[in-house]
Amino acid sequence: MRKPIIVGNWKMNMTVTEAKAFANELKSLDLDSSVEKGICAPAIDLYSVKEILKDTDVKVGAENMYFEESGAFTGEISPKMLNDLDIDYVILGHSERREIFKEDDELINKKVKSALDHNLIPILCVGETLEERESGKAYEKVENQIRKDLSDVEKEAMEKIVIAYEPIWAIGTGKTASAEDADDMCKFIRELIGKIYDENASEVIRIQYGGSVKPANVVELMDKENIDGGLIGGASLKPDSFEKLVNFKRR
Ligand code: PEP
Repeated sequence: MRKPIIVGNWKMNMTVTEAKAFANELKSLDLDSSVEKGICAPAIDLYSVKEILKDTDVKVGAENMYFEESGAFTGEISPKMLNDLDIDYVILGHSERREIFKEDDELINKKVKSALDHNLIPILCVGETLEERESGKAYEKVENQIRKDLSDVEKEAMEKIVIAYEPIWAIGTGKTASAEDADDMCKFIRELIGKIYDENASEVIRIQYGGSVKPANVVELMDKENIDGGLIGGASLKPDSFEKLVNFKRR
């Protein structure tokens, strides 16, 4: 049985002051312990958020990292730095990194391998544009991304890695993929992992859906067979909304 996994992505939101207030409030909430949960925060917030949440079951993740441990890479953060703070997850290949900062699959693949080497859980994001969906190229795009981003990644890593299917047209737009379409793509990804690795890998891999998930649609999405979790931007920015997302089973 795969454990459901609900993770917030704060993007470039939350000052340290705001992040600390959020984390402290989270500590007082009654969050379902049968759901794996976490917050991915801007690098500058990570130390404070991890300190506040360290004795809870809420995991903490970074939103990106470089693949090298240290060196002349101005402005970047490294897996070694994340290890030092005991960070759990790192989002890699988010569409905003791919589209705005021009990260390509070759770079993302290096980051995935480095995260795994450093015992970080990569949340690897893949997904198509609206144009690709409308021209029938969504599945081809996602397959290409996964094959390239997981190149030379060992089968054993499939127990750890999380894939987030995030159609770009649904991110931050209020448009959610229908639960059926989201599940179809997650099923396709699961079968692809089965082809690249084996049946066991396809059974253990956790696949999230991301794209305007909110308390009002989380149950319908999480009900689907191939959707194991959500990667959530906007609706993760308020503690009460994050609580409703994590506690989707109680609704
Ligand atoms: C995201 O940040 O990965 C995301 C899916 O954002 P939103 O939930 O705001 O669409």
